[in-house]
Amino acid sequence: MDHFGYRAGELICEDVAVAAIAEREGTPAYVYSTQTFVDHFDRLRAAFAELNPIICYSIKSCHNLHILRLMRSLGASFDVVSGGELVRALEVGADASRIVFAGVGKTDDEIRMALGARVGWFNVESEQELERIDQLCELSNASTGAALRVNPDVDPHTHRYTTTGKRETKFGVDVDRARRVFREFGRDRRVRLTGIHLHIGSPVNRVEPYVEAVTRALQLVESLRVDGLTIDTLNIGGGFGAHYEGAEAPAAQAYAEAVIPVLRARGLQLILEPGRSISANAGILLARTIFTKRGGDKTFVIVDAAMTELIRPALYEAYHFAWPVKPANGMVPPHRGRDLKLDGTSLVDVVGPVCESADLLAPNRWLPPIQRGDLLAIFSTGAYGSVMGSRYNSRPLAPEILVDGGDYRVIRPRESYDQMLAAERS
Ligand SMILES: *Cc1c(COP(=O)(O)O)cnc(C)c1O
Repeated sequence: MDHFGYRAGELICEDVAVAAIAEREGTPAYVYSTQTFVDHFDRLRAAFAELNPIICYSIKSCHNLHILRLMRSLGASFDVVSGGELVRALEVGADASRIVFAGVGKTDDEIRMALGARVGWFNVESEQELERIDQLCELSNASTGAALRVNPDVDPHTHRYTTTGKRETKFGVDVDRARRVFREFGRDRRVRLTGIHLHIGSPVNRVEPYVEAVTRALQLVESLRVDGLTIDTLNIGGGFGAHYEGAEAPAAQAYAEAVIPVLRARGLQLILEPGRSISANAGILLARTIFTKRGGDKTFVIVDAAMTELIRPALYEAYHFAWPVKPANGMVPPHRGRDLKLDGTSLVDVVGPVCESADLLAPNRWLPPIQRGDLLAIFSTGAYGSVMGSRYNSRPLAPEILVDGGDYRVIRPRESYDQMLAAERS
């Protein structure tokens, strides 16, 4: 699952004691495990090897340049959703011809940037967008590959805010409309519309929705081919699960075993866009307890990390396992499930110091006794943690730290108050 575990009663990342990082670098801090990124990427690549996919790591899940460089060294390409993410991919020397550029609202500037960089594919989400990319190609005498994002109308059984592949969604176009778009734009354009893009939501902890979505996409491919159109690429998106509670996500192998038989010998280049399945378990958020207090029947553990470092619980009621770095009485957690309730624990809400009631990190948890000053780890925060960080309440951005074996490096230092104010001072 990952390389965070308890050894001799304290939390270790690979071969580094997490408490030692906190001593030197302070809290709150994001701590990542190199080997976890490597394992998750390698497993996905091995699982889908038969189809030789282009694996476009979803930059939005964890975008630090050091992480992107690591992903590139493993053979990943990139899924970008903005000009800023494109700049990051190019900064680490990505091969632009293997980049996919997604997003429902690409601006002219972003489209021009991506055409200039010669990205491999635009994942196009509407007729107007296709029209505009075609015009901008004309104006700059450029051309590009493109895939149309199609909503296969399958229910991924995930949170309503992260469901994206149903018929009524701002993303993509439905299948009937897709047929018309391909007939109109599928030939003799500077935008070579030869691909279909799917992304049904995330996390999708079942393989069936992918099989269903791919099956519907293949029906569309066949009917378009009958019309004489060329369809050579199928991008099945991301959303593969991560382990937030235990082993709830299917293994990469399980997704592959379900999807490969459907896709074999179809004459399609497969593209994957994994984000969290690679990055989520590769990070924790480290926090220190500032105070504990009682409020009515509740006990609050107030820590120095907040919704500014991890907004997923406030935004999606997402569950993240939390546990002390050096638990009292050697109470090492046997698993990370929601129902964990060991003898000697008590019910608490782990909250941040930000002035919002939604600033909850881990509500209603049975935790070992916690004192002021104790370190806490919030697990599986590698994806959509630091990237969604904010300076709300004028809290400077927390540092990112990358562990590799017995060493670690600060890959983004803690922002100082001076840095926070610099742009506003002039
Ligand atoms: C967010 C997103 C992904 C990555 O999702 P994960 O759940 O992190 O795997 C991939 N493709 C698209 C189009 C996305 O919007």
